Amino acid sequence: MAENPSHALFRLIPSVDRLWADPSFGRLKEQYAADLLKRMLRLALDRLRLDILEGRAGEEDCRIPAIVARTAIVAGQRLGSTLRTVINATGVIVHTNLGRSPLSPSVTQRIVQAAESYSNLEYNLEEGRRGERNAHLRQLMQELTGADGALAVNNNAAAVLLALSSLAAGREVVVSRGELIEIGGSFRIPDVMARSGAILREVGTTNRTHPRDYVQAINENTALILKVHTSNYRIVGFTREVELEELVSIGRERNVPTMMDLGSGCLVDLSPYGLAEEVTVLQVIASGIDVVSFSGDKLLGGPQAGILAGRADLIEQMRTNPLARALRMDKLTLAALEATLEEYTRPDGSAEGIPTLAMITRSPEELQEAADSLAAAIRERLGAAAQVSIEPGAGRVGGGALPMSDLPGPRVAVHPRHISAARLEQGLRSGNPPVIVMVQENTVLLDPRTLLHDQASLIPELLAAALAGN
Ligand SMILES: *Cc1c(COP(=O)(O)O)cnc(C)c1O
Repeated sequence: MAENPSHALFRLIPSVDRLWADPSFGRLKEQYAADLLKRMLRLALDRLRLDILEGRAGEEDCRIPAIVARTAIVAGQRLGSTLRTVINATGVIVHTNLGRSPLSPSVTQRIVQAAESYSNLEYNLEEGRRGERNAHLRQLMQELTGADGALAVNNNAAAVLLALSSLAAGREVVVSRGELIEIGGSFRIPDVMARSGAILREVGTTNRTHPRDYVQAINENTALILKVHTSNYRIVGFTREVELEELVSIGRERNVPTMMDLGSGCLVDLSPYGLAEEVTVLQVIASGIDVVSFSGDKLLGGPQAGILAGRADLIEQMRTNPLARALRMDKLTLAALEATLEEYTRPDGSAEGIPTLAMITRSPEELQEAADSLAAAIRERLGAAAQVSIEPGAGRVGGGALPMSDLPGPRVAVHPRHISAARLEQGLRSGNPPVIVMVQENTVLLDPRTLLHDQASLIPELLAAALAGN
């Protein structure tokens, strides 16, 4: 009986011991711990046997150099980091899936300093004793927002959780039915409320909530009136919402604190850039609201963080809640957040040191120029393989901020002649670095607004590689 050809190939594979002793494993042995590398070698051999059985591997693949190469690939896949830099050509600035706000070198430098050395994180240098982590941000936040107290935690979801737990556990929180939001699938006001131990007291209807709805809901067990920014949607048509000032006076008359979950947390007026509808943190505090919470990495343009600002006594209640320890911000983020807030103290309105703001406020002329030169470079590199044009388009702030506001600007449209746009998109996504794009009507769209530093110059070659299928 003729022997199964797979078995003949199996016999060509050297033993693990022989492979391990072979000098050609030397370089990998320098790179990886021995026990891990040996496991990678065994995995590589398992894959090789499978490939042989399925007819994908032959004699050549059973030789030592091929097995070393196979082991290196397996090790790279299983022992390497998977978090990679990508190029965001979508025009969505605060792109939650792509890491929200990028930071400027002036900010990242401070992260490095805080990381590489000891610091006075929780040490009072004047008095030579234990200090308070939160003291670092308090002064700066007070000056920038007008709030008496401030506290920073891991993210805005944590800030809302901490505020509800500190101010309203076991008691009622009044919220309009039009504001029971869900952000990104996992942050839902009713769920966060339940986790905090507070009791949700819904008032009004989806489209209309009146002052009397709040007033009627307030009783001796009411701990808080909460207003939530409907970050990622708008209710339009026959609507009524109660304005901040009205809520504040309802709360004050009845001695019930008020809070706003602002979501994005913009510190500067963006109306000169056609984004008029966003209320700033300063305006919210000036309305008399007792507590406001917002994200560090949305419109603020800093690191992931949740900031609570407002009445000092309420902030102190949150700071001393045991949950605060679990939700606290680490020193690297603290360094980045401080540096970001410092950018807002500069005379030029901060856009230089805050890439998110710089991208929002890029001028039409600058964007047109960027689109023109990108299109020219792509045309030159791709030649007849694609049709390249410039189309009017619109970027977005993203991150659940300003859902109705487009940021008009030109986009470079690449229509491949020999493959589909979907294939080209996939090729770009698997490039090095990956490029993330929008696809519309068999065309790949590249928005220059979200291309950082020298990234535009990489795109023609990455497109060529994606078209060539490698
Ligand atoms: C984005 C957002 C959150 C969640 O903030 P994270 O910083 O992502 O945790 C909560 N509330 C509102 C209104 C938001 O827009």
